[in-house]
Amino acid sequence: MTVLLPHSCRCGSRWSGLSTAHCAAASCHQTFTGPSAFSDHRRDGRCVPPAAAGMVLRERAGYEAWGFPADPDAVERFRALKERAA
Ligand SMILES: [Zn+2]
Ligand SMILES: [Zn+2]
Repeated sequence: MTVLLPHSCRCGSRWSGLSTAHCAAASCHQTFTGPSAFSDHRRDGRCVPPAAAGMVLRERAGYEAWGFPADPDAVERFRALKERAA
């Protein structure tokens, strides 16, 4: 079944969802589950690979987007990463 996704980018990505964010920076073009995930991959005006920022690729309806991990262990690792980065 093909899901019709309302948003697209010239990189070929498609996504849906009101809060979903897609980064249009030339070296990035990643899709994020929401504005906070998006802003968290931006450090000092640059894009950090989402995995390096502690995010995980999450399965959405017809597309994938980077978001914060749901399990407590991963959240803890993520917090440690953030503190190291700060
Ligand atoms: Zn794109
Ligand atoms: Zn980016």
